[in-house]
Amino acid sequence: MSNKFIILDRDGVINVDLFDYVLEEKTFEFEQGSVNALLKLHKNNFKIIVVTNQTCINLGLISAQGISDINNYWIRQIEELGGSILHTEVCPHERNENCGCRKPDTGLLESAEKKLNINLKGSYFVGDKLSDLECASSYGCKPILVKTGYGGMTLSESLPSETKIFENLEEVVNWIVD
Ligand SMILES: [Mg+2]
Ligand SMILES: [Zn+2]
Repeated sequence: MSNKFIILDRDGVINVDLFDYVLEEKTFEFEQGSVNALLKLHKNNFKIIVVTNQTCINLGLISAQGISDINNYWIRQIEELGGSILHTEVCPHERNENCGCRKPDTGLLESAEKKLNINLKGSYFVGDKLSDLECASSYGCKPILVKTGYGGMTLSESLPSETKIFENLEEVVNWIVD
């Protein structure tokens, strides 16, 4: 059986978007239903890849290691519950750096493909911002918008035509799996 991959944005999808940066473990709060959703994906043989813009790094608000520690913190909680996150990709750059990996650019997906020797084309990609949906669409992934985080605001933007819309990650996963 071929591997199934799913790409997830982090803030506003997995955890509550603070409309500010998550710079400490104690401000990382799972979105309602997202833990169950992550566990259900794992149970159903989906390999989860998280792709996240964290401009706070190059703004000097936190180190790359600090972001990595926060990710390890929540991923460990998922693992203790029997789940698994295959891989995480972080863009540390500011918009004006033109890095090629800041979503909606697709460098994070390319990087994950290279490191893991996988193909992400055709995979579901769940996000709460237009930049997630545009990244998904331009790379040949299936864009899914959740209404959590910035999602409510993103609804009024001009979305890629193939975008599917759900209340939150748990609803997305129920739709994909059931
Ligand atoms: Mg987000
Ligand atoms: Zn970048």
